[in-house]
Formats: sequence, structure tokens, C-alpha cells
Amino acid sequence: MARTTGPPVYGETGLAPDHLTDLASRIEPTGDRSPIPVRTPITDDEIGTVPSCTAADVERVAERARAAQSSWAETPIETRAAVLERFGDLVSDRRTELLDIVQLETGKARHHALEEVLDVPLTCSYYAANGPAILADADRSGAIPFVADASVTYDPVGVVGVISPWNYPLTLAMTDAVPALLAGNAVVCKPDERTPFIALALASLLEEAGLPDGLFQVVTGDGPTVGSALIDAVEYVAFTGGTETGRTVAEQAGRNLIGCSLELGGKNPMVVLEDADVETAARGAVKGAFTNAGQLCLAPERIYVHEDRYEPFLDAFVGATRKLSLGLEFAYGPDVGSLIDGDHLELVEAYVEGAVDDGASLLSGGRHRPDVGPFCYEPTILTDVDPDSRIACEETFGPVVSVYPVAETSEAIERANDTPYGLNASVWTEDRARGRRVADEIDCGTVCINDPYTVGWAAVDAPMGGFGDSGLGRRHGPEGLRRYVDARTIATSRIGPFDAPPGVSPGWFAAFMTGLTTLQRRLVRWLP
Ligand code: NDP
Repeated sequence: MARTTGPPVYGETGLAPDHLTDLASRIEPTGDRSPIPVRTPITDDEIGTVPSCTAADVERVAERARAAQSSWAETPIETRAAVLERFGDLVSDRRTELLDIVQLETGKARHHALEEVLDVPLTCSYYAANGPAILADADRSGAIPFVADASVTYDPVGVVGVISPWNYPLTLAMTDAVPALLAGNAVVCKPDERTPFIALALASLLEEAGLPDGLFQVVTGDGPTVGSALIDAVEYVAFTGGTETGRTVAEQAGRNLIGCSLELGGKNPMVVLEDADVETAARGAVKGAFTNAGQLCLAPERIYVHEDRYEPFLDAFVGATRKLSLGLEFAYGPDVGSLIDGDHLELVEAYVEGAVDDGASLLSGGRHRPDVGPFCYEPTILTDVDPDSRIACEETFGPVVSVYPVAETSEAIERANDTPYGLNASVWTEDRARGRRVADEIDCGTVCINDPYTVGWAAVDAPMGGFGDSGLGRRHGPEGLRRYVDARTIATSRIGPFDAPPGVSPGWFAAFMTGLTTLQRRLVRWLP
């Protein structure tokens, strides 16, 4: 993938380590310290460095953001929306370079990187078009009709910290940052140490789109130092990552009395009913389980198939999976790319080996493929998995899925819900109304019918997030914007203080107020 002579360059646009390291020059840490090397999973070579920021650096960056935020909050929301629309256009126009950077940092297949690049303009357009109405001042019912009124206004919280993971470094940083900026906040983003360059490239595109200086900044370094310092320096934190880290983030946000949203892990079920078209369901299973080599928080890791469809589904699923090509090219072609690094590869291998030792059958995959790339692992299908084993209960976050037969729909629903997680699920059926009824029974933030995850994620107008151990709060939709504002109620009385007027006895006033509130309750109940 890299040139064999001369300094290495990568991708269609010829990315060079110097260029990537230059992107990081927008971060100005105080004092000299060792830079953090960033490696590509494609070859395991170093592709550039970023500064290891300290807590003092984060404080300084947050102060700059706070200074820039007040005039941004005063800028009309339509002007803010126009900047974000321009940014969405730039992401689309510069997609070749962005695709190269995402692939270089993550090792994912190009068509999986494209999903990230396409997502950002959609998010920008949605919030640019709908944000002004979602955040518009609104009249609410007053305490007593004709006597008092009330209205609500929304103020940006101030500086928002976005802590993003390595698996979708472009989408997951921007899907939280775009609505925060539209709402009039500044954003400080802390990307994962392994994937910092895409966030830096986006910072430069935001600047080109006209975002004033200081409003979107990136800090790099390890999570416990830089992430933690960021939570201490902001008014809200939007976090995406593992459940245990999410608990730490929530504890710290709770101590600081700031809001947070957490999108965490999942052990996502896929339910195939007896009337499902098995070829369609198998295509969906391949797409869901092996997109980004399974390193997708929404990916199905457990598939429950009605026993009447179990064998034909397995034949179709295994057949399609064995045809998948593994590869590392900066071009559309290979179906599946690499895992993120050696530690993650070891974890995935350990899950599969443990399952096989406990009696699981390996129907496809199950092998590390160093001949393709240092951290490549084959798409893997397991059956006969002990439902209490680690692989059945814990998030694998790799290209590994277990398939189980079930006798009844009710059994599938019960097993789908038998987990502390609740992020995403899918139901497969020819009868969409029945799919809807089953979806209502599944305890997940998103349930997709006849699609593994895209139809839910790409519905930007609809909230996205998890039940239980899968997180708190929602991104996307009005909920994804309103998390970044403080609501202020302004209420006016037309009669002065709500108290007995001079000369009226307290007993008469008590009787009057009791009658009035009773009438009001009746009217609220009867009036449409
Ligand atoms: P983490 O939760 O460790 O990391 C996510 C982000 O949080 C990174 O930017 C990380 O920084 C940062 N971070 C780490 N510790 C802290 C802290 N104490 N305070 C603030 N920020 C912190 O996820 P991993 O990358 O290690 O992945 C672990 C598991 O999480 C995966 O195997 C998967 O199960 C799940 N996951 C879920 C994702 C989702 O989309 N819902 C995405 C990624 C992971 P840094 O890494 O630079 O130290």
C-alpha cells in the first residue's frame, strides 16, 4: 500500500507522514515533551506523531474556546447553520483525502470509510435545516390562562467536550460536534490516541468553511489524562466508547454537575422470524456483522433464527461470508479490512478460541490472516455456543457472530433481552406489521426492521442511543441538539404576585384558588 522506494506515501492522494504531522501543528502544547507516535494498522508502521497534551494544555484550549464562544452564541443561528452547511459540502468535496486518512488510521475497507464520509454532510444538512426551529423561542401554557403566560428560550451551555473512539473517528466526532456548534457552543474534541488525524483534518475544514477561530479545537493524548482534564474544563461531555470508561466519565461529569451523553457498547441481537426471506436476512447479517470488521457498536453479535429457517439461513449466511474478500487497498474492492491493532486482535482471537474450547462449532473464519495485514482476522461464524459463555454475553467488537436456533418468537425476544445492554437490534420478516410488534418488545434504543443498522443510524431526525449498559442520552434528532442547551423559562403575571390582594381575607382567597384550580384541572382534561 505504501511506495517501496523513497519516503512512504499512502492512498490516492499520496498522504505522507510529514503532512499528517503538520495537521497536528495546530495543537500548541506548552513546553517540550515526547510526541505520541501514530501507527497504521495497514502495515503497523508509524505514520506521524501528535503532541501528548497535559491537563494544563487542555485548560488553556478550553479557555480559548470559551473566549470564542460568547460571540458565536450571539451570531444568528441561520449564520451558524450556513457555516455548517458549507462544512458538509467541503467534507463531500474533499472525500478522497478524508477516505485516505480514515483508511490509513483505521485499516477499514474503503466502502466502510465512505459510510463515515457520507454521514457528515447528512448530519450538517439536517441540523442546518431543522435546528433553527428546534431551538426557536416558544410559548408555553401559563400558570393560569389569561392571567399569566410562559415562554421558553434556549441558551448554549458553553464549551462542549467530545470524546470520540477509534472505530468511526470521523462520524462519531462530527455527529456530536455539529449540533453542539449549531446550538452556539464551542467544541473541544479529544480523539482516540490511535486515530487523531481525521479530527485534525476536520478542524481545518471547519476553519475553511468559515467557523471562527477557537470554536473547534482538538487535544491529543491518552484518555485518563486528557479526557479527564477535558471533563473538568467543559460544561457538557459527549462520550462514545466502552461501557467501563463510560461509567468513569459519568461519575466525573456527575461530580462536576455537568450534563453528559454516553454511547457505549452493545451485544446486539438479530431476530430472524419464520416468515423471513433467508437470502435477505443472510445479506443483512453479512453487512451488519462484518462492516468495519465488526468494530461497530451497532453490529449484530447474536443471531436468533426460528428453527424452521435455521438451516437455510445458515447455508446462505455461511456461503456469503466465505465469499467475502479480506484486503487492504485504498480503493473500492476488498469487502473487509483490518482490526485496529495487535491488542484488539489478541482479544478477538481469545474470544473465538475460548468459545471453540467450550464446544462451539466454527462454520467460517476463525483465523488471523497476517498474509493480508498484520491485524486482519477472517469473518467468523460460530454455532453451538454456550449461552452463558463469555462470547455469548460480552461485546466482542470484532468480525465474530454466533447463531442460535429458537423454537418460538417469544423465545427469540426473551433471549434478545437477556443482556444488560440495549443499543441496537434488528428483526427480519416478510410481514412488516409483525416486525413492528416484535420490535416493540425488544429493549433497545434502536430496532431496525429488515436492515441491520443503517436504516436506524441514517434516520438523522430520529434519536439514537442505548438502554441499560449501552448508555445515557441520545444523539441525532431534536434530542441530539437540545442536550447542548439550557432551557430558560420566562413567566409573566398580569396581576402582580399570585397572592391574596390587599383587603381579601385569606379564607376567601383559599376558597377562590381551590375553585379556580379545580376548574383549570377539569378544562385541561376536557379540552383537546
Ligand atoms: P475507550 O472507552 O477506552 O475509549 C474511548 C475514548 O475515551 C478514547 O478517546 C479514549 O482515549 C477515551 N478515554 C479513555 N479513558 C478515559 C477516561 N478515563 N476519561 C475520559 N476519556 C477516556 O474504548 P476503547 O477504545 O478502549 O474500546 C474498548 C471497548 O469499547 C471496545 O472493545 C468496545 O467494546 C467499546 N467501544 C464502543 C464504541 C461505540 O461506538 N459505542 C466505540 C469504541 C469502543 P484513548 O483511547 O486515547 O486513551
